[in-house]
Amino acid sequence: MAEQLIDGFGRKITYVRLSVTDRCDFRCVYCMSENMTFLPRQQVLSLEEIETIARAFTEMGVTKIRLTGGEPLVRKDVLQLFSSVGALPGLKDFCLTTNGSQLRRYAEHLKASGLKRLNISLDTLDPVRFERLARKNRLDQVLDGISAAKDAGFEKIKLNAVILKGRNDDEIVPLVDYARDMQVDISFIEEMPLGDISEHDRAETFCSSDDIRQQIDQVYPLMATAENSGGPARYWRMQDSESRIGFISPHSHNFCGDCNRVRVTVEGKLLLCLGNENAVDLKAILRRYPGEIDRVKDAIRQAMNVKPERHHFTTDGDVQIVRFMNMTGG
Ligand code: SAM
Ligand code: SF4
Repeated sequence: MAEQLIDGFGRKITYVRLSVTDRCDFRCVYCMSENMTFLPRQQVLSLEEIETIARAFTEMGVTKIRLTGGEPLVRKDVLQLFSSVGALPGLKDFCLTTNGSQLRRYAEHLKASGLKRLNISLDTLDPVRFERLARKNRLDQVLDGISAAKDAGFEKIKLNAVILKGRNDDEIVPLVDYARDMQVDISFIEEMPLGDISEHDRAETFCSSDDIRQQIDQVYPLMATAENSGGPARYWRMQDSESRIGFISPHSHNFCGDCNRVRVTVEGKLLLCLGNENAVDLKAILRRYPGEIDRVKDAIRQAMNVKPERHHFTTDGDVQIVRFMNMTGG
């Protein structure tokens, strides 16, 4: 019988998020500092090493892989990786999280490589605000990228919006309107305390999923659904649209009980939980025993025993985890 990864709390691990780069063409205020120092190339997994890790997981029952970053599409030659991961036997769901800036160039190639679902980040529809939040003046490029993804015909496209009180919380309904017009889904994400950023005080900008949902509900009455895309979002529907609205709320709702996923950082650290420091160094194994996939699989199997039961985020703005989101792969 085919192998299945199961952790110490009986949860089946079927979903892996792989970070393919820590670099990015944006500097979103909730994710990075303005002057980021990126990792030296030697410390970053090669595309071949990432592919070996992806293969190891799919040979152990993982059916869903998401490539993320940093901005995955700024890594040189990354399309090769999409083709090789897209061709792995056993993979049922292949997804990408992107800021959308390169989609006009790559959407068709990505579709051809077997990528099914795209999450595209979009926090505002106002170019001035976009520049304040992403620290780059690229709203038009992103909107054009979203259109390119629509034209390429992906199975599912979902927008991701991080909402910060006083910054873009008056754009919640306009963002829903945009998702409805484009016939895509949208998820609202509570800001997570990842990385020690100085641009704003997270305790002041925190905006809960419940607040966001209430704002939308006043315009578009929302119906709860039991739908699940295999990730942490809870979905709601509007009466008159196919677009679903998701909420990712690590603070307000504990989604750890049915956690089915692990992450691999761009440095090859297997992170068993976004909110804990437990990690296993897969890069060390790959560099010591190049191409020996069985050793990687053994390390992953053993790691299942130390996956923590739950995360420990709080809303008081304390940074419990000093990794930046671009390193862990959001
Ligand atoms: N660059 C791509 C993008 O922006 O979609 C992929 C990587 S990014 C780290 C993945 C997701 O994490 C994005 O939707 C981003 O908005 C979100 N994100 C980044 N930092 C966050 C934080 N501190 N709290 C919550 N979400 C965050
Ligand atoms: Fe880059 Fe994505 Fe982080 Fe923004 S959220 S800085 S686009 S990695």
